[in-house]
Amino acid sequence: MVGTAPFFYTDDVPERLPIIRGRVVAGESTLRRLVMTTKRRYDRWFGVTVPLPTIILLQDRHSITAYWGRRLPMWSVAWAEHGSIFILDRTLARAGGISPERWTAIVRHEHAHLYLQAMSGQNPPKWLREGIPCTLARQSYRVTPNDVRRYLDRPEAPGQNVHGVGWWLVTRLIRRWDRTRLIRLVQACGDEAFGADFRSAFRSVYGSSWSTARRRLGV
Ligand SMILES: [Zn+2]
Repeated sequence: MVGTAPFFYTDDVPERLPIIRGRVVAGESTLRRLVMTTKRRYDRWFGVTVPLPTIILLQDRHSITAYWGRRLPMWSVAWAEHGSIFILDRTLARAGGISPERWTAIVRHEHAHLYLQAMSGQNPPKWLREGIPCTLARQSYRVTPNDVRRYLDRPEAPGQNVHGVGWWLVTRLIRRWDRTRLIRLVQACGDEAFGADFRSAFRSVYGSSWSTARRRLGV
């Protein structure tokens, strides 16, 4: 249901919400249009429907620190959880050097996270959880096959660019195979049969091992 139907749903509000100084947006038309358009596109892309998100516009950076219990880097202005998108108000973000175009891309990025969370929680590897939102939000990165290899061999090493690596891998996986298979991979990651084991999920969908796929992609 769209149009005059309630735009945002508020069940499952995060417990930490009261510590945030935020504004739940209900009728801001630009944002509403953006989220509606994105939802239509994502429903098609993922082949599943996820309810429209609640958008919480954060009114200060302190709310981000309060929510996470630690200071996040300045570029970190948004996250998605519990069917909601939390994002620093665009005026404040702009003052921090984030252009309106980038702000819009961030909303799209976070919106994609909600689909992935609905489909497979936190099970897929982080590069896949970030790579799909980056690809859908058309956020591109300068990444070399070497960077990708280095990340895959040691994802926890300091200074890794998980967004860039994820974007690189997701675009190549789609190009080399197809989107349908990538989506089936996400679903398989959420399937209890594989118990969050990415390699088994990958093999079941692609019919060959992740190591073989890495070799084919040159990483
Ligand atoms: Zn993300």
